[in-house]
Amino acid sequence: SNMFKNINLSKSKKLFEEAQKYLVKGVNSPVRYFKPFPFFVEKAKDCYLFDVDGNRYIDYCLAYGPMVLGHANDNIINTVKEQLELGTAYGCPTEKEIVLAKEIVNRMPCAEMVRFVNSGTEATMSAIRLARGITKKNKIIKFDGAYHGAHDYVLVKSGSGALTHGSPNSPGIPEETTKNTLLVPFNNEDAIKKTIAENKDEIACIIVEPVMGNIGCIPPKEGYLKFLREITEENDIILIFDEVITGFRIAPGGAQEYYNVVPDLATVGKIIGGGFPIGAIVGKKELMENFSPNGNIYQAGTFNGNPISVSAGIETLKNLDNEFYTQTSKTAKKISDFIGETAEKYKIPNKIYNVSSMFQIYFNENEVVDYETAKKSNTERFMKYFYGLLDNGVFIAPSQFECCFTSIKHDDEVVEKTLNAIEEVFKSLK
Ligand code: PMP
Repeated sequence: SNMFKNINLSKSKKLFEEAQKYLVKGVNSPVRYFKPFPFFVEKAKDCYLFDVDGNRYIDYCLAYGPMVLGHANDNIINTVKEQLELGTAYGCPTEKEIVLAKEIVNRMPCAEMVRFVNSGTEATMSAIRLARGITKKNKIIKFDGAYHGAHDYVLVKSGSGALTHGSPNSPGIPEETTKNTLLVPFNNEDAIKKTIAENKDEIACIIVEPVMGNIGCIPPKEGYLKFLREITEENDIILIFDEVITGFRIAPGGAQEYYNVVPDLATVGKIIGGGFPIGAIVGKKELMENFSPNGNIYQAGTFNGNPISVSAGIETLKNLDNEFYTQTSKTAKKISDFIGETAEKYKIPNKIYNVSSMFQIYFNENEVVDYETAKKSNTERFMKYFYGLLDNGVFIAPSQFECCFTSIKHDDEVVEKTLNAIEEVFKSLK
């Protein structure tokens, strides 16, 4: 296609035509599709994706978060190979589940016990069930534009692909299912106070992405998470941090360590599977013990605690030392600062946000603090920025409403190449 100067995508185009016959719009998750067609990946190594046409991209999407050690990490390959020889699913407990659970408990402040599941979606679904079961209340509070996976209770005013592809409220979910999902704007104390006052003693939990990562990158205002902690404590509401993105990424103990606010429960995923499918509900013992078979709140899965995912997760967490956090944050800051400066240089209205190894630019004149302000961004310009970067060998998630990530493999040389690509793109964005 002639929209690109530097890359040829003829094989991807052919595969897309074929894929569309069998897979809806050629993809298996909405965020993966972008116009006119996505590139098809052949392989990945370190910070690079290689497509079927032989193009190489520096990857800041990183499979939407998990690949903190880069792609095809040798240590992970070795540990997974060893586990493959030993079997891939048992339907019985293993020692490795204890090892990974301990690694999580040692890092994450709220985590005293763990239940492994297979995805972030399952984790939030079960955490909400746990909160409802324990409190015997039905209502939950969710933030506008937050994404907690693709299950029915949270697919309301949802971010990520749901927003990008025009279905923040998906058809097919009965009103009866979502009538107990109360929506509030992020970073707004009065809205929470009002919602709690109007639904006194009816709210089981507040579920929050401590840094909103599915509508770009929106940090919490100073003191906001502490406010949520206090008001939930005062009202016997369970506070759930959805740390599927932030967990083990922005600090060893996630956002709860980074902002020094400890929730009752947290949901995690992505990084703890080292590139394999996983999720987990973690939290205080007295709450977690209500899960079946100890308690009666049901949660189950054939592949829960899958030994391949667990092995890769253990190996990943082992490698997340202080150096990792310093390095990935430094890289993200360097790139996001440069994006902001370059946008200013070319007089392109922008707001840029960076928390540790997460960052995103909004093509927006005003501060972005919530769903409404994020939605006012110039998404058309964002896509030009996206295509420009792609043409210059840099891949970011194809939406204004996603976040960029750095890995330990984005070294100085790679960053230098990235900055050059950014300069090229802004030159032509005007
Ligand atoms: N919660 C958050 C904060 C997420 O970012 C995501 C996925 N991007 C999910 C939940 C759902 O996780 P999964 O895609 O593994 O189901």
